[in-house]
Amino acid sequence: MKAFICLLSCVFAVCSLAAESPKIPVLIIDGQNNHNWKSTTPVLKSALEASGRFMVEVSTTPTDRASAEEWAQWRPEFSKYKAVVSNYNGVIWPLQVKIAFDDYVAGGGGFVCIHAANNAFPDWLQYNRMIGLGGWGDRDEKNGPYIYVKDQKLVRDTSPGAGGNHGDQFEFNVDLFGEGATHPITKGLPASWKHCKDELYDKLRGPAENMKVLATATSQVTNRPEPMLMVLDYGKGRVFHTPMGHADYSMQCAGFYTVLQRGTEWAATGTVTIPVPAAFPTKDATLPVK
Ligand code: ZN
Repeated sequence: MKAFICLLSCVFAVCSLAAESPKIPVLIIDGQNNHNWKSTTPVLKSALEASGRFMVEVSTTPTDRASAEEWAQWRPEFSKYKAVVSNYNGVIWPLQVKIAFDDYVAGGGGFVCIHAANNAFPDWLQYNRMIGLGGWGDRDEKNGPYIYVKDQKLVRDTSPGAGGNHGDQFEFNVDLFGEGATHPITKGLPASWKHCKDELYDKLRGPAENMKVLATATSQVTNRPEPMLMVLDYGKGRVFHTPMGHADYSMQCAGFYTVLQRGTEWAATGTVTIPVPAAFPTKDATLPVK
């Protein structure tokens, strides 16, 4: 009888699996940022949930004035998630969390880096290898080359100077580049689409190892195509990085939603099943998400 019940429950479990593939568990980290993370985290969460593919939780760090005791309480269980999305730009994490995060990504976990999360942790070598490129925080030539596109080729420019800059916010075009036409995240997207009002980061620099640039946007400051969508391998882990997403209105864009969903799915699983929506921005018009 016991065996029969076990068999029945196994059959039931397989049936329900087949009926609906389980949602991918994703963790968003926030809690400190020179941006309004309290307004952007809900957009990131609802953008991911809108795909129906993810189960999203948020872990908020202590404040920048927190005591060591408060930090000792913050120990996210990275291994419970298939991907971690960082909306964090603040004080360095406790050593134990840094080691756990490095082990998690190197061991095959997915990591998604959004906008000012690439300003964080200029002195954390492993983190900078994960994100490939960063800005501000006294980053300069010691952190790695500037990366941009010239004559349709990726340039590694080792000239000295500060990393990270942007002009006024504006609506700009995101243009597929390199493997962007065939990579799972960006395959099927138009060659160019108009992105909602945002900061366009330029002069990012970093180690940029094992990094592919899938899309660029031409900066009004440098007048050159700057990396906008990047993928990296870090150990057994996959990283998706976009410097887009300054504010809630920058993220509330059908193009941003799509690349966030597909980039997170790719970081988490290595494949992309979320379709490109029929309604998508064109090269001349944004498509805000309400
Ligand atoms: Zn910003």
